[in-house]
Amino acid sequence: PAPAPYIGRFAPSPTGPLHLGSLATALGSFLDAKVHHGQWLLRIEDIDEGRCDKASVEHIVRTLKRHGLQWQGEVWVQSQRHSVYETALKHLNILNLTYPCACTRKEIDDANSQRALGENRIYPGTCRQGMPEGREARAIRFRCPTEPIQWHDHRLGTFNDDLNASSGDFVLKRGDGFWAYHLVVVVDDLASKVTHIVRGEDLADTTARQIAVWKALQGGLDAQTAAQATLIPPSYWHLPVILAEDGQKLSKQTGALAVPEHDPVLNLNTVWQHFGLGKIKATEVTQWLELATLVWANYRAARAAR
Ligand code: GLU
Repeated sequence: PAPAPYIGRFAPSPTGPLHLGSLATALGSFLDAKVHHGQWLLRIEDIDEGRCDKASVEHIVRTLKRHGLQWQGEVWVQSQRHSVYETALKHLNILNLTYPCACTRKEIDDANSQRALGENRIYPGTCRQGMPEGREARAIRFRCPTEPIQWHDHRLGTFNDDLNASSGDFVLKRGDGFWAYHLVVVVDDLASKVTHIVRGEDLADTTARQIAVWKALQGGLDAQTAAQATLIPPSYWHLPVILAEDGQKLSKQTGALAVPEHDPVLNLNTVWQHFGLGKIKATEVTQWLELATLVWANYRAARAAR
């Protein structure tokens, strides 16, 4: 029988050059697609144009290519897809799953003042039944389902996330016109028919919100997507996040450096060691990736949550 289709993706936000942590995510999702004889897409998540820049996009694209991480088809670019997000938002609106919200950050913080430091800020639902008289909308929010979202992560196991307790109704579009990550990521995964999401563990707790939007949108984006819609959300595998020597997460925020230019095989091996997979002896990236693909199938199997 033909293998089930597999479409994976790497979806970096170009807010800085690609660092080793992102190279690890790219490599993991790439190899997983390879193991499944699937496709691997590249999506530039530059929707927040103020924080993203062209130089970072170029660095990401160049670095992926230098490491042999070749995607299929055109690069998906979020900043060129505003009208698609607008259509999706309209669709959610027709389903009565959105509402305008007037609350300021301070008002939401005040409502959360009993919560411990570091806990997620939860939207208390103030504008759910309508904005208070005389106030103006500052955001469009998603009306969370009342039932918890159950989902399974390949490595982390089963989650049961009651969104009303973990985030509350979340923002889809900000008053200043910015699209929220939780909307665009789902619209694009649906539009590109992504079946498998392999990404960093730091995004695991965003998954339930995305599945809620996914369920609301699937089948409704356009006639073609609707015809091919399945009721099953993508499958998820959140990879361990690579830590710097000092135990901090490697990220742009902690000032992670760009992937070194000189020796791509060395970079791949650095990432590989962080996965706990030792070293692969190869002289060039194509050979390295072929050998790594063989290892990845076992790595995947060994990481399956029971
Ligand atoms: N753009 C997100 C990031 O760079 C990743 C989105 C995703 O993989 O779902 O953190």
